[in-house]
Amino acid sequence: MEAKIIDGKAIAAATEAALAKKVATLKQQHQVTPCLAFILVGDHAASQIYVRNKAKRALAVQMEGLTIPLPASTTQAELLAEIARLNADPLVDGILVQLPLPEPLDSRAVIAAIDPLKDVDGLHPLSAGQLLQQQRGYVSCTPMGCMQLIRSVEPNMAGKHAVVVGRSVMVGRPMAMLLLNADCTVTIAHSKTQDLPSIVAQADILIAAVGQPEMIRGDWIKPGAVVIDVGINRIETADGGARLVGDVAFAEALPRAGAITPVPGGVGPMTIAMLLHNTYLAACYRRNLVPA
Ligand code: NDP
Repeated sequence: MEAKIIDGKAIAAATEAALAKKVATLKQQHQVTPCLAFILVGDHAASQIYVRNKAKRALAVQMEGLTIPLPASTTQAELLAEIARLNADPLVDGILVQLPLPEPLDSRAVIAAIDPLKDVDGLHPLSAGQLLQQQRGYVSCTPMGCMQLIRSVEPNMAGKHAVVVGRSVMVGRPMAMLLLNADCTVTIAHSKTQDLPSIVAQADILIAAVGQPEMIRGDWIKPGAVVIDVGINRIETADGGARLVGDVAFAEALPRAGAITPVPGGVGPMTIAMLLHNTYLAACYRRNLVPA
């Protein structure tokens, strides 16, 4: 039997529709419009598209999206000054610095300078520590979105063996922690892992966050597994065009997996929905309001 396709677009749309209602209530009861500021440094084409999409979706859920474009020549000191200004602005609830930053800007120092209460991307060291210690805080958007996608087909993850391929600060590590917090048994694989196929074969839940086109082959996958493909890779097609593929060989995985996310239309839309969710939380937390 073919795998169920996990429709990230539809799940994100439903999440955003529910969020729009909460935002409307926040406005009505407390006269608060959540505001998300995007810092976009330089003219990286993909980053511009990502920020434009995020700002559009913020508007769609009745939030305010404020884009701050800065030239690629921006210095570290100038960028930190911009963060300080946004930290101090009482109308700004969330701050997102679009990554990657142009060289030689130090993204770690920039992220660490964000007021943790406005860290809606969930990348500040305090947010990472809160996740580790299961305290209230903002969770990195992509892994949080993946959890919703998994839950849509596997509401009870307790005891499942989850394999996360990739150990980045933004995706792999927080993903593993969320799965652990959901009572999975978690294995984290990376570029030094030996015999990756045999580890992937043990996964009831497989998260691929590698950045290598179709690296995970269909015959590695345990029959019936839930497969979440975070990868976004642009590959050239025979006609000279390009298309997006994930880290999993989708066509091969389809007859083996129990459920699988497509690329595009899987994890990507959920990442933005979770960013907006975090911005709503920030608008509440900053005013000591209890989120709906
Ligand atoms: P990174 O490059 O930061 O991390 C990649 C990870 O994959 C590293 O931990 C690396 O291991 C591991 N890796 C690389 N090659 C192999 C290999 N051959 N075998 C096993 N592990 C390997 O990437 P990100 O985590 O930021 O992103 C991963 C993918 O997800 C990318 O395609 C990115 O575009 C996509 N992405 C998608 C998002 C979305 O919204 N859908 C959001 C964020 C990312 P090591 O640590 O040993 O180097």
